[in-house]
Amino acid sequence: MSWDVAIIGGGVVGTAIARELAGYQLRCVLLESADDVGTGTSKANTAILHTGFDATPGTLESRLVARGSALLRGYAERAGIAVERTGALLVAWTAEQAGSLDAIAGKARANGYAGIRSVSAGELYEREPALGPGAAGGLRVPDEWVIDPWSVSLAFATEAVRAGAALRLGTRVTGVSRLADGGFALAVTPGGAPVRCRFAVNAAGLASDEVDRMFGGDGFTIKPRKGELIVFDKLARPLLSSIILPVPTARTKGVLVAPTVFGNVLLGPTAEDVADRTDTATSAAGLSALLAAGRRILPALGQEEVTAAYAGLRAATEHADYQVAAYGHYVRVAGIRSTGLTASLGIAEHVAGLLETAGLPLRPRAGGERAVPRMPYLGEAGRRPYQEAERIAADPAYGDIACHCEQVTRGELRDALASDIPPTGLDGLRRRTRAMNGRCQAFYCGATVSALLGPAELAEAGRRRARLRQAEPRAAESREGNSRKAEPWAGERRAAEPRVAGPAREAGADPEAGTGRRRGPAQEAGSARNAGRAPEPDPAHETEADRGR
Ligand SMILES: Cc1cc2nc3c(=O)[nH]c(=O)nc-3n(C[C@H](O)[C@H](O)[C@H](O)COP(=O)(O)OP(=O)(O)OC[C@H]3O[C@@H](n4cnc5c(N)ncnc54)[C@H](O)[C@@H]3O)c2cc1C
Repeated sequence: MSWDVAIIGGGVVGTAIARELAGYQLRCVLLESADDVGTGTSKANTAILHTGFDATPGTLESRLVARGSALLRGYAERAGIAVERTGALLVAWTAEQAGSLDAIAGKARANGYAGIRSVSAGELYEREPALGPGAAGGLRVPDEWVIDPWSVSLAFATEAVRAGAALRLGTRVTGVSRLADGGFALAVTPGGAPVRCRFAVNAAGLASDEVDRMFGGDGFTIKPRKGELIVFDKLARPLLSSIILPVPTARTKGVLVAPTVFGNVLLGPTAEDVADRTDTATSAAGLSALLAAGRRILPALGQEEVTAAYAGLRAATEHADYQVAAYGHYVRVAGIRSTGLTASLGIAEHVAGLLETAGLPLRPRAGGERAVPRMPYLGEAGRRPYQEAERIAADPAYGDIACHCEQVTRGELRDALASDIPPTGLDGLRRRTRAMNGRCQAFYCGATVSALLGPAELAEAGRRRARLRQAEPRAAESREGNSRKAEPWAGERRAAEPRVAGPAREAGADPEAGTGRRRGPAQEAGSARNAGRAPEPDPAHETEADRGR
């Protein structure tokens, strides 16, 4: 078996790339080490659909956030992914901060975003009456919205799989050998034959530097930056209608307060450099700093119940911009730090362009139109199955509530287990339905929901997942010739290759367990990549102002 393209990493970026490529006559495989898609940083973010107004103008990030943002707005609507058009208010709390507002508005315009406008202190309080005292003025950014972050990766992966891409979950890439024709043999665990491919894309997030080294790269190091967040109970939701942003400082973009599409309020994130790429624990210090900031922004928040706390890790590097570039048949997609949810579809489109420039023919599939899957709607603002009388009459399972905090029915849980990419555990079921995500933190519904994941259900989910593998195109066997020689490559420096020039310079909130979530009430409260290759242009080494984004 030889694939046209292997994509390493099934976060929002890797799944978006798989979806993009699945629209062409290509045999693609998505390799993800976890047992589900979207379980890395993609499940633990702030879930804001950015405009990119505050990006650094002229960077790849600025361009791809703007493009991705436009694409994701349309995609979410077609896929039925919950979005709330909240808009954002950027609030200045001091005269000095008020003095920087014109420059921020100018930056937005330089990024191609013209919707930003000044608001007086009076208008701020009209729009957000619960705002703390002392606001001196601000900016309104009407197109900063909030989105359901979990359904995005799942929708991309579902569309890719339905279009014929193969999804191999529980498959970690551990080494790379180069084939004689420029393709690759990827060693994977657990065991099994290497995955052969003509082109490879590294979208491994926090491990993208390690994977890059397997391909001979050494141009960057991931420096994880932790962001802790607090989720407030739904009773806090009436306190605000927009995302409330601070004026960024030289040190950080700062702590925001935002509604979530699930009907909660989010406070965070912090920004702390950590050494451990798996350290998603929350801390007493981080959470108390957040609560202090939250009380300043919205004093009434201090009286509200906390439902959960969690932390995510931004895949920051020593470079300020995204690290996206093609090297022969290998494309590196790294340093997608704090805007990857928004930019995902823009990144995917850009990567397809890089692959095409590198020699991969992109011929649209017969029939042309992409079939966007309709995802279960998980938002609080729209209608959910328990509210639909006709649907309940046709199928009483949609009237049988299993999770009362989030009003999730047995019908929805059943559907999730029978979906194209079924969950294998409670966390996966939670992300697909909202079950166990409410104020009781599964205290009341945990047993009911767990019972749905009994041996028979897990066996059926396993069979559905096995079918994902069986769907892999046997005809692809050896089209490229299994006779190709694999050359040991890992750990070696590649010979000089011309850099492939791309179209431009190649330069959730996850209130859930498993990412440092705490349950219960109030909670703790460049370089030359290879010998002979020119050093990468490093547009701007990260400045302090980039921290915390
Ligand atoms: C606190 C915080 C707040 C954020 N807020 C926002 C926001 O409001 N809006 C926004 O647009 N963005 C936001 N982001 C950024 C966004 O979440 C990320 O940019 C995005 O999720 C990155 O996606 P990814 O696919 O690159 O990485 P990941 O989601 O981490 O996916 C990488 C995947 O690769 C897999 N993998 C790793 N190594 C291997 C291997 N060897 N073999 C196979 N698979 C492998 C991992 O298991 C993982 O699933 C935020 C991030 C954080 C941390």
